[in-house]
Amino acid sequence: LEAKEEFSHKTLAMDVMRPRRNDPVLTVITQDSMMVEDVEAIINETTYSGYPVVVSRESQRLVGFVLRRDLIISIENARKKQDGIVSTSIIYFTDHSPPLPPSSPSMLKLRSILDLSPFTVTDQTPMEIVVDIFRKLGLRQCLVTHNGKLLGIITKKDVLKHIAQMANQDPDSILFN
Ligand code: ADP
Repeated sequence: LEAKEEFSHKTLAMDVMRPRRNDPVLTVITQDSMMVEDVEAIINETTYSGYPVVVSRESQRLVGFVLRRDLIISIENARKKQDGIVSTSIIYFTDHSPPLPPSSPSMLKLRSILDLSPFTVTDQTPMEIVVDIFRKLGLRQCLVTHNGKLLGIITKKDVLKHIAQMANQDPDSILFN
């Protein structure tokens, strides 16, 4: 009886990840179709530490994860030092540049700042296991998928808040100190 009860109350990754139901969607970057100005808009309009990179919005297939600070530095540098990089330049994270008309502005390759194997769990993973993974691997964030599609993100702070809620304690005192 006890075990069953525990099972039915188990918090899953999908209960802790962002976005929550009714929240705006996850902010993602597509691998080879966004312009410099699109990514700059994301950087200016959000404060997240990083952004998942996906094949396309429609597919939501995960390609990797890019840190906000690396994006800012790389775009600033390219605008200053790389010939032909303008607001409408396409940014790509793929190996090869996407096919574009010859009249298009120079493209900006940012594959070198992409983390190609960000840690992921499925939405059904029990939070106990997620917490364990964060502890053991010292993760800053973990992406959540369902059937190979990107669904959400859990940051270290999300995990700490979850633990605090469970224990009703000060989050800073529990996990990583
Ligand atoms: P922290 O959790 O340390 O404040 P962030 O600033 O990256 O780190 O994230 C703030 C909140 O937004 C967290 O709850 C996180 O789950 C969520 N979040 C992080 N990255 C994204 C993103 N790209 N799109 C939507 N939500 C995000």
